[in-house]
Amino acid sequence: MPTLETAGDLGHLGHLQQFVNTWSIPNDTRVVTDVLPGLLGDSAAWNALFPFALGAQDSHAAMLRLRDDLRATIADPSCLQGTLNAWLQKAALGMAVKVQDGLPVLHTTNPRHSAQGAILVIAMEAIGRGDWVRLKCCADCQWCFFDSSKNRSKRWCGMSKGGPEGRACGTIAKVRSFRERQKGA
Ligand SMILES: [Zn+2]
Repeated sequence: MPTLETAGDLGHLGHLQQFVNTWSIPNDTRVVTDVLPGLLGDSAAWNALFPFALGAQDSHAAMLRLRDDLRATIADPSCLQGTLNAWLQKAALGMAVKVQDGLPVLHTTNPRHSAQGAILVIAMEAIGRGDWVRLKCCADCQWCFFDSSKNRSKRWCGMSKGGPEGRACGTIAKVRSFRERQKGA
């Protein structure tokens, strides 16, 4: 099974990124690879990657659909609202208030303790912080990456800091546009 790169500084969002990148097109083979079915059938491998366990309602079909839906919403934000709201209804997440350092803080809870719910909590937290829009699918290899640039203008994973090693996504497009600019000049 190919190793999945962890997104160290993304906090919990790194786990969601890792989940959606269980489908990938590795740079060395350029062949579509899906490690999720293997992970779902191997709880030790799953638990080594994710801090939330698979629950009774986390069927293979549901988890694959959640992964594919999340990938679709990251690649095409226009379908985010309908897709995520449908999953939120299914996961039946809750809300709780906690007092931290004397201040009330809102928490999204996962009362069914499902892996689906845990992943959706991460998505909700990211949306709440305004970080969700920084999660993108590479225009070349479709690897899901975090765009930490100031103006959120990145389109290729290879140009992102901490992107998977050896990828040069966007390079061909950049060379092409450079040549076109030269031709025009
Ligand atoms: Zn890429």
